[in-house]
Amino acid sequence: MAHAVASFTSVTARVSAKTSSLRGKTLSKAKVTPNRASKRIAMSARAEINLLGDSDKKPLVDSVETFIFDCDGVIWKGDSLIEGVKETIAMLRGMGKRLIFVTNNSTKSRAGYLNKFLSLGLEITAEEVFSSSFAAAAYLESKNFPKNKKVYVIGETGISEELDLVGVSHIGGEADADKKVTLASGVLMEHDKDVAAVIVGFDRNVNYYKIQYATLCIRENPGCEFIATNMDAVTHLTDAQEWAGNGSMVGAIKGSTKREPTVVGKPDPFMLDYIANKFKIRKDQICMVGDRLDTDILFGKDGGLRTLLVLSGVTTEETLKSPDNTIHPDFYTSKLGDLLSIEK
Ligand SMILES: [Mg+2]
Repeated sequence: MAHAVASFTSVTARVSAKTSSLRGKTLSKAKVTPNRASKRIAMSARAEINLLGDSDKKPLVDSVETFIFDCDGVIWKGDSLIEGVKETIAMLRGMGKRLIFVTNNSTKSRAGYLNKFLSLGLEITAEEVFSSSFAAAAYLESKNFPKNKKVYVIGETGISEELDLVGVSHIGGEADADKKVTLASGVLMEHDKDVAAVIVGFDRNVNYYKIQYATLCIRENPGCEFIATNMDAVTHLTDAQEWAGNGSMVGAIKGSTKREPTVVGKPDPFMLDYIANKFKIRKDQICMVGDRLDTDILFGKDGGLRTLLVLSGVTTEETLKSPDNTIHPDFYTSKLGDLLSIEK
């Protein structure tokens, strides 16, 4: 899915701003739901969508001390590094910039992502990687999750590995991948009364057993938390089409419990606040670089960050400039590697 900057006809395009939100919905079919970003945009009748020009690059880079990068669609697509990424990361490091990599994908732990970076030839340290699987564990740690309580997991190994690292007991997850429910008169599913939180992340083996178990914990265990790693409506599991994302798994549990989850991934602010506190960074000195409007760019705008949209992932120039889109980055460009011309 390549998008050529050469096809852009103007540096600045003006579009009408409407008060709709795209959070958690496909861009083309989103329904109107007011939120903070849309209210802010609605205050100005029109908003600018700026193509990152050569003269914008140095001022943008000079104005921030930290870059937060989304991964899929910015750094890599599937298992392929996007052109120019390695050189751009090296250039920004050489300029003394702090680099942080944040992904909503909870299927891997930070260690799992670090291995992926290293396998692609990118020299990244463990401290620079943040995933929504880590955010779920960090959230429980921040709430002093009781040591005698457990978490029920809908999700893959990333969540379990991160819970192990913070010493939180957990059940479910991959262990329940093949469980089946056989219904007959009098059948009753027992559940662990010590489960005090349910975490729902993307799970290719979600099944009715897991949905019922999570539902019982949230409905019947007093005070049980309901945590979602993210609400992504769709995700790009293959380059051929969009696949149902974690929003579908969270939606199942929302439907059965009538509860709203605490969301720890983008665009909700938990990871940003965590990162800003950990590294003592001012948010106005951070630039968020992402390929999705409803997660990455909204995360940046709600958090008061500079924002750069790259068209190397899911968002097309057409979607960005659609009158239905109200989420406008400070700048957009075809790919991260476009920053390299700053040196020329
Ligand atoms: Mg992405």
